[in-house]
Parts: sequence; structure tokens; C-alpha cells
Amino acid sequence: MTISKNIMAVKKSIDRAMAVANRQDQVTLIGVTKYHSVSEAQQVVAAGVTNLAENRPEGLAEKQLAFKENHDLKWHFIGSLQKRKVKKVINQIDYLHSLDRLELATEIQKRANQPVKCFIEVNVSGEESKSGVSLANVVPLVQEVKVDDKVLVVGLMTMAPKDANDEQLHQLFHQLKLKRDEVQALELPTAPCRELSMGMSHDYQIAILEGATFVRVGTALFDA
Ligand SMILES: *Cc1c(COP(=O)(O)O)cnc(C)c1O
Repeated sequence: MTISKNIMAVKKSIDRAMAVANRQDQVTLIGVTKYHSVSEAQQVVAAGVTNLAENRPEGLAEKQLAFKENHDLKWHFIGSLQKRKVKKVINQIDYLHSLDRLELATEIQKRANQPVKCFIEVNVSGEESKSGVSLANVVPLVQEVKVDDKVLVVGLMTMAPKDANDEQLHQLFHQLKLKRDEVQALELPTAPCRELSMGMSHDYQIAILEGATFVRVGTALFDA
């Protein structure tokens, strides 16, 4: 019961943020199930969430096995991906949110059976502990991967620092949006770059105000 109630509350709050932002487009709620069991993930899906995210190859495989009869689900990989794990994951997912280096793009090019929708992960705040490329290195990376027909850069992704205040969050997300617009304006066939994957349990409302088209929410779906 708790999970379905939480999801109703999150959806409401997403709708409210969309209304405040006066947005007519869509935002997709991704349910992040990485710390939760198959049966909890089943409750998430039963409550109408059709996009699920995992951050480890093993977790992805476990959940996908449990949902193998359900062809409506979209699968997102949000963890950092080691080169040697690409083969295992890349043809099982709909979106990769953690493209952060050329070496990874090259491996995807080698292993993918068809173009993979990728987000470039950006470390907007410049925290040393965070993965992702700096804002300044987004365009160079996009330019480098532009000959890879298996890597389709659909957008940019970021994780905000946990301790950022509202004003800082607005700024961080806005900076990512400006960078998204810049990449989009290059009109590269391999980088349509229309999407923004930003916003987690504690900051998805602000991310939506700043233009998020995908929010990745875990804790808020499961908390008692
Ligand atoms: C775990 C995780 C989330 C979800 O975080 P919550 O705070 O639980 O909503 C979102 N994005 C990434 C990349 C994550 O690793």
C-alpha cells in the first residue's frame, strides 16, 4: 500500500511542478529500484510506473528476469559502467544515463546491435567524488563520438550534490539545460540531445521547473 500511495504522491507533485512551470511537454518518471527487491519493484510497476532503473548489471539482470513477460517496460541503466561490463548490459537496455568517456562510447560501438540511446553524464558542480564530464568537456565528447552510429546522444544527465540548497539546485539544473541547448544546436545526426535526465527524490520538483524530461526517483517511492 505504501508504495502505491508514495507513487501517487510523487506523480501529483510532478504534475504540480509541470503546472507551475507552465510546461505542456512530458516528463517521464523513472522508478529507481536498485536497493529494492523484485516484489517491491512489482508494486512499483503495479502502480503504473513503466520505466525502471538499475545501477549494476547484476541488479538489472535480476529485475529483467522477473519481468520478462512484461514488454511494456523501459529499462534504464544509471550506474557507472565498466568497459568489460558493456557487453552484458548494452543490448538489454533502452537508455544508458552514464556515458562519461570516449572509451565507453568506443566499446558500445563495438558491442551494440543497434543504436543505444545515451545520456552524457555531466558533473555540473565539479565535485571531485562525482563521475561525469565537466560542462566544458561535453561538446568535445559529443564531437568525438559523432562517428559512432551505435551511440545516440539523446540528452544530458546530472546528479546534484546532496547538500545543495534550492538556489544552487536551480542554477545547476539551469546550466545543464543551457548545455543541452548548445549540443542540440549543433544538429549532429548522432546527437539530437533533446532530453534532460535530472532530479532525484529530494530535488525532482526543482529539476522539473528547470526543464527535466526524465526524473530518476528511488527513495521517495519506497519510504514509509
Ligand atoms: C540512486 C540513484 C537515483 C535515485 O536516488 P533517490 O535519492 O533514491 O531518489 C537517481 N539517479 C542515480 C544516478 C542514482 O544512482
